[in-house]
Amino acid sequence: MLRTYVRNDQYTIEIGERSRLEVPIGSDLKDEYGFGHRDRLRLEVTGDPKWSGEQGRLELVYDELADTFRAFQPITIDDSRLDSPLTSEEAALDVGANNLVACTTTTGSQYLYDGRDEFERFRETTEEIAYYQSLLENQRKTSNRIDRLYRKRTNRRDHVQDALVRDLVERLHEDDVSILYVGDITGVLSTHWSARVNEKTHNFWAYRRFINRLECVCEEYGISVKEESEAWTSQTCPECGEREETVRLADTLTCPCGFEGHADLTASESFLRQQNNEVRSMARPVYLKWNNHEWQDHHSPPSVVETMANEAYTNQSTTPSGNIALGKARND
Ligand SMILES: [Zn+2]
Repeated sequence: MLRTYVRNDQYTIEIGERSRLEVPIGSDLKDEYGFGHRDRLRLEVTGDPKWSGEQGRLELVYDELADTFRAFQPITIDDSRLDSPLTSEEAALDVGANNLVACTTTTGSQYLYDGRDEFERFRETTEEIAYYQSLLENQRKTSNRIDRLYRKRTNRRDHVQDALVRDLVERLHEDDVSILYVGDITGVLSTHWSARVNEKTHNFWAYRRFINRLECVCEEYGISVKEESEAWTSQTCPECGEREETVRLADTLTCPCGFEGHADLTASESFLRQQNNEVRSMARPVYLKWNNHEWQDHHSPPSVVETMANEAYTNQSTTPSGNIALGKARND
């Protein structure tokens, strides 16, 4: 790409009816095109600057597709002139098994990504792998078919996960979120998951891969990801702060004070409040389901019966253990 920079005291931009940019040119070009010694190159420019202030180094880039030169001019302005803070909203995630991600933002948005169907498919492929492993003869550890199944399982999981990350980050970007809190891995493994989720789920979810992916896409959108301890957030009542007496059954958290809410969404909300954040009044949560192609809104939460059935499933683990903590299944 053709790109050049012009020092901040070497160029001038005038914006008005006929906007123009003047930049210095080298002596070779002056000779070649017959410019005088003190002449500068004057160019017409289009577009209106959004900000004005002390000008920084100008960047000139040739855009081949549009056959156009584009100029980027950074500006330093003082904060008092910002009509609204550019970076004020925050969000927190709760990562789980039945619901892959529950998220709350300080703007009051809530998102819930349902992982039941995908987890079920992952489990089916895992069983298929176990079946073919049982047929192996003569101390063989694997076969082409088994390798293929591992790859299929991993690719599908990665696809779902990547699409989730992108869908979520785009939504957070629209909510003007600039900081996203996620549970640190030790917290996730020790306090949050161990009691209710088995090894298969860790394999399925691949937490470390998820966080890496999240960090990459967030960077694209200027959102910073912070790993914080989320201790207690999944047991805390958002109404009265009770921790010990709350009861979590399937997807519902109930408290003696009368509170009843979606357990994962409540956990993400408590996690966000724990980072000294005010959460504005809650909008209706957006429930998202994977349709083999993309994550789609559907407006009612998954039924409790369905939830209980899956809860029972995830408790009967039989998978051999792998390096679960970092989300590395074998052949990943
Ligand atoms: Zn309570």
